[in-house]
Amino acid sequence: MIAPIVREKAALREMIIPWKRAGEVVGVVPTMGALHDGHLSLVAAAKAVCDRVIVTIFVNPKQFNNPDDLANYPRTETADAQKLERFEVDAIWVPDGDQMYPEGFATTVSVSGLTDCLCGAARPGHFDGVATVVSKLFLQTQADKAFFGEKDFQQLQVVTRMAADLDIPIDVIGCPTIREEDGLAMSSRNLLLSDRARVYAPVLNEVMERMAVALRGGASMKDLMPDALKRLETAGFTGVDYLELRSADGLGLLERADVPSRLFAAAWLAGVRLIDNIAV
Ligand code: AMP
Repeated sequence: MIAPIVREKAALREMIIPWKRAGEVVGVVPTMGALHDGHLSLVAAAKAVCDRVIVTIFVNPKQFNNPDDLANYPRTETADAQKLERFEVDAIWVPDGDQMYPEGFATTVSVSGLTDCLCGAARPGHFDGVATVVSKLFLQTQADKAFFGEKDFQQLQVVTRMAADLDIPIDVIGCPTIREEDGLAMSSRNLLLSDRARVYAPVLNEVMERMAVALRGGASMKDLMPDALKRLETAGFTGVDYLELRSADGLGLLERADVPSRLFAAAWLAGVRLIDNIAV
């Protein structure tokens, strides 16, 4: 069954009213489309525990700090709807820019602290865009549960904080990162990699896994960074936005893995920005 594609807020609201009235558990899976198995794992998680599932597809201009990045972001709505067919979701919510940000739109949701580092520092304004759109998606869908990937671990933390701070009655659920067989974290941006760049892209995860083993053995980031950066450079990565060890709770910068921690990286390969993070 192809799920109904809903493009108007009023139609979405109409659809949801009887679900809420019947006390059904509504789940939402926010995405920017170009769906892959990582997104679909969130849909499966939602289907497992919700009566109704809404998948949202919206390439949110407010979270892009680079106009070329926004223009080049893959858009594959027809294929996305086909991929969702077997999950029998209840609606695909595909608002356009005017539905989301009508003339005169003037509100920004901004989460402080957690957003100062990592992608927040590398992409100014990014998390304001994320927090703003996700708070709107939560209110539009009136979902009881929302499903986010650990692939974007900082985003998961930011969205969890935002929902708690704004008293939005929703359970934010984190789901594990789905990877290609060679370890590359699945991402819509992988579609933008040339064949050659795709061969070297898994080196990011390889380097991180190698660092994680050493960190678990007591090594310090200072000891590990030179070799890690060299390996990335040799594989063709042209810039590293960050490669940092941070606490899993609160994202405080660490030199050694002496508390539950994660290793975070963002790096550029042939003009494509890849991110990854792993538990240490
Ligand atoms: P995006 O379309 O990239 O904004 O991602 C939409 C949701 O899918 C976010 O919650 C992401 O964290 C999640 N996601 C993206 N890639 C993966 C992956 N490889 N594994 C699990 N979740 C993912």
